[in-house]
Amino acid sequence: MARRKLIYEGKAKILYEGPEPGTFVQYFKDDATAYNAEKKAVIEGKGVLNNRLSEFFMLGLAGIGIPTHFIKRLNMREQLIRQVEIIPLEVIVRNVAAGSMAKRMGMEEGAALPRPIVEFSYKDDALGDPLVPEEYIIAFGWASQQDLDDIVSIALRVNDFMSGIMHGVGIKLVDFKIEVGRVWDGDFQRLIVADEISPDSCRLWDVETGQKLDKDVFRRDLGSLADAYTEVAKRLGVLPSNVTHAPTKPTLIN
Ligand code: UDP
Repeated sequence: MARRKLIYEGKAKILYEGPEPGTFVQYFKDDATAYNAEKKAVIEGKGVLNNRLSEFFMLGLAGIGIPTHFIKRLNMREQLIRQVEIIPLEVIVRNVAAGSMAKRMGMEEGAALPRPIVEFSYKDDALGDPLVPEEYIIAFGWASQQDLDDIVSIALRVNDFMSGIMHGVGIKLVDFKIEVGRVWDGDFQRLIVADEISPDSCRLWDVETGQKLDKDVFRRDLGSLADAYTEVAKRLGVLPSNVTHAPTKPTLIN
């Protein structure tokens, strides 16, 4: 069988040409990277978990009227998505100070913010994804003021949805990143949520214990990343609670 045409290989996912024009197949790898790919590992089962979790969040968003690129999951590691023109921004929403914001502002990690804050980084690995003001985005033509207003409104709706879902399973949504793409209906442009939403792109803390259940487990060597993602998936009912990522061997019962 002829191999599908590779469109793009990123750090955690691969895009292939889809079966219909205007579609891609998105393949979730087990590769984990952090600090602009300075730290790398293969975490067995991560791609399978992120494929399922991203499907779960994207379907939920569609269910409340937020359009996304997700069409359907094809198998354990692949999903069919709409082809979009990606806006080269990481759209970050923060509810609690953490990560680069805590560092930049000299804030304690975990300090509540007075309101959700939306910020933008320019997607460029060579530059280390620098934080950019709206002025840059408009001046350099990456998005218009109208696009930005729409992106902020989408990002805040995603935040409300994700915060609520997580709160329901005892998890605090500290911050997350989304990417937004353009699709065209004739001459008419629409913005939709693209890429992925998974514990790779969110900070998730257990409400009771503060335990981290996201990629910081890998960034900061805090234990098993697959266990953390499995816990998130189990709580959300995305995996039956008796399924683990690492099958155990049969044991003799005396
Ligand atoms: N994030 C992401 N991809 C990136 C940068 C950030 O998914 O390239 C997510 C990250 O997981 C966190 C949020 O965006 O949930 C805010 O990240 P931050 O700016 O604090 O950067 P970091 O500390 O990860 O460098």
